[in-house]
Amino acid sequence: MQHDAATPARSLPVPLRLPAVDKVLQDAAMQSLRQSHGLDACTRAVRQALAELREQLRQQVQKADRCLATVDVSQVIAQAQVLLEQRFASRLRPVFNLTGTVLHTNLGRALLPQAAVASVVQAMTAAANLEYDLDDGGRGDRDDLIEALICDLTGAEAATVVNNNAAAVLLSLATLAAGKEVIVSRGELVEIGGAFRIPDVMRHAGASLVEIGTTNRTHERDYAQAIGEQTAALMKVHCSNYAITGFTKSVGDADVARIAHGAGLDMIVDLGSGTLVDLREWGLPYEVTVRETVEAGADLVTFSGDKLLGGPQAGLIVGRKDLIARIKKHPLKRALRVGKLTLAALDSTLRLYLHPEQLARQLTTLRLFTRTRADMQAQARELQPQMQQALGPGFVVQVADMSSQIGSGALPVESLPSAGLRIEPASAGAVPGRLSQLEAWLRALPRPVIGRLHDNALWLDLRCLEASDQPDFVKQLQARGQTAA
Ligand SMILES: *Cc1c(COP(=O)(O)O)cnc(C)c1O
Repeated sequence: MQHDAATPARSLPVPLRLPAVDKVLQDAAMQSLRQSHGLDACTRAVRQALAELREQLRQQVQKADRCLATVDVSQVIAQAQVLLEQRFASRLRPVFNLTGTVLHTNLGRALLPQAAVASVVQAMTAAANLEYDLDDGGRGDRDDLIEALICDLTGAEAATVVNNNAAAVLLSLATLAAGKEVIVSRGELVEIGGAFRIPDVMRHAGASLVEIGTTNRTHERDYAQAIGEQTAALMKVHCSNYAITGFTKSVGDADVARIAHGAGLDMIVDLGSGTLVDLREWGLPYEVTVRETVEAGADLVTFSGDKLLGGPQAGLIVGRKDLIARIKKHPLKRALRVGKLTLAALDSTLRLYLHPEQLARQLTTLRLFTRTRADMQAQARELQPQMQQALGPGFVVQVADMSSQIGSGALPVESLPSAGLRIEPASAGAVPGRLSQLEAWLRALPRPVIGRLHDNALWLDLRCLEASDQPDFVKQLQARGQTAA
């Protein structure tokens, strides 16, 4: 290379010393990363780390004129580890749901009962008669496996199961009302979790929405007057995540059904959560049951499998035999159907309802809903010193009463008396910053702890921390003790 005296020294090639990819990969410190992420991902991460470090070095060298720049193996591994963690950070991990919302949509809603877990494992590992008729050796229908059970529990004539309640609503509307009109009260045009909105689902099902009444008041005459040539159905939607109070009027299921049937139309109810039992028997607030809705005259009722029902993600459609038969034949049914794991889990969950006297013990969600405040207070008193010890003097941890929510659009305005830990920064200054540090610390635990920020404190509601989970909870606090403060 030509050396020109006029060229500044910094443009000269400077030897950048970087270890070889293989050398890094063979390093002992790299072995645990290879174990968890595999050789290919580690190789890519090491290459990328080397490229980034090379670039950083080049910039340093340019600033500092000529110098011999080196990077050692441990720097490369540290950088590769950061890259691997970023890349794989979003994987599904167990967390502690201490938000106080039992059916938390972002945290996976219902936890499956033990019986359902066993059935899922079996369905995963053994061939099963999913679509095989054991009586005649011919082809079976996967819905047959649980249809009778669902009918027994709801009083409906027929039933089918799809991926979730959104799919159940979509499929019901597409089958009954494509190219036609469906009448819904303005007070019921619900949006669930940002993505499910009745008007949008209606459009994608090919039906036109006819809104009636006002936000707060809808009368029988509003339904009757809106019925025309193009009307296919009248629809009621459960006000899952809001309540309209004050000067209000809505028309009950039985009256809407009567108006629909009088005009030769069908009545559809999107029940949202849908419960199979009267929750008042367990001292919980009243929620209309699927059976009551069917008895009120609804021709089709849709509800979720993983809300109050306490089973896997699924959408159940129950109702008139002829309508369910049409739904099963709709081409979308194939696209929205459930797999065998879901059917196995749903079947076992539904079977628990055959023994209502054991339900509060066996059905995980109901067990969580019915935990008493006294039980959680005792648990909170036990955990308070451990949490205080882990957080150090920077925070004050106190046992506190709080109230939990059922969640996922079930009984939005009702709450359950519960208890847990209330954590505040020890000094009043910079409270919001300290609280978000605390939240981040809890999220960074091996099994992240998710609480709720409220009233200048972090609240950890213990309703969903069952006794069997407590040792793991405590162990990780002890292991990370003092690093928070
Ligand atoms: C929750 C809910 C849905 C959506 O159910 P997914 O099972 O989440 O698809 C639809 N409608 C109502 C009224 C709901 O409460």
